[in-house]
Amino acid sequence: MSFKTISQHRLFSLFILLGAFLLASGSYSNSGTSLPMKTQIVFLGTGNPSPDPNRTGPALAIVVDGTPYIVDCGTGVVRRASAAAQAGVKGLAITNLKTAFITHLHTDHTLGYADLIFTPWVMGRKEPLEAYGPVGIKQMTYHILKAYQEDNNIRINGLENANSTGNKVNVHEIKPGIIYKDQKVTVRAFLVKHGSWARAYGYRFETPDRTIVISGDTSPSESVVENCNGCDVLIHEVYSQAGFAASDSDWRKYILSFHTSTKELAEIATKARPGLLILYHQMFFGGQADTEDGMLSEIRQSYRGKVVSAHDLDLY
Ligand SMILES: [Zn+2]
Ligand SMILES: [Zn+2]
Repeated sequence: MSFKTISQHRLFSLFILLGAFLLASGSYSNSGTSLPMKTQIVFLGTGNPSPDPNRTGPALAIVVDGTPYIVDCGTGVVRRASAAAQAGVKGLAITNLKTAFITHLHTDHTLGYADLIFTPWVMGRKEPLEAYGPVGIKQMTYHILKAYQEDNNIRINGLENANSTGNKVNVHEIKPGIIYKDQKVTVRAFLVKHGSWARAYGYRFETPDRTIVISGDTSPSESVVENCNGCDVLIHEVYSQAGFAASDSDWRKYILSFHTSTKELAEIATKARPGLLILYHQMFFGGQADTEDGMLSEIRQSYRGKVVSAHDLDLY
């Protein structure tokens, strides 16, 4: 498939989903009362470190009444946001990207951080980026800003006439608990188990019409169950049993300690009782049976709830 065909296909699927969303929005009901749906979940990237051109680095946007909150910034985050904006998710207009939550500092979740800091500014954003993440994100931000100092000086003081405020970052190193609150959203961070990372977070977003829990990268973590506890949407990373069986034995210790299998996720989701379980950051380790359909059917063997598997630019 050519790049053009892929992007047309993705945009088309986004339009279909958007249409379905608009149709559903009039009758969306949470806890019995009929409310207009205000919250959109847009998958900006569903990939992992592997450079799959169809799945860019992990990133998603929760858009509440037109205000976007970005979770993680994998490679491609800004371009996918731009694609979603062009397809009709107006809240993802580039200069609107002002708030980001990072789950942990693995490269696949942060390679697009510089992009998120600078590209919206180059395109005219005047406000600094507000970035929330684990201890270490201050250092990372400091070094990124330093690395681009010369570019920034030329843009601000030269013929490009860039503003001197939108290239800044207000960094917030977080601890578990409520880390953010405004009129549209309350965000709670909770620790998850991600191998040797001392601090890897999941996030719980409460908006006027939906409660959304994002696992981040994690091996099976009770904190995901506790924080979802009947939430509307649980977005969880996953790998398949078939992929594990076909994986290189040298990798198995890593996989078990850092990530969650379909079988484990079925147990977690059964206890967490989300209205909808969405798979993302799907990891494929090899073998013929290690496919997206394979993942879904493995989960359905022991999980009775609704489950779907996300693609880049899917909208829920
Ligand atoms: Zn990852
Ligand atoms: Zn990770």
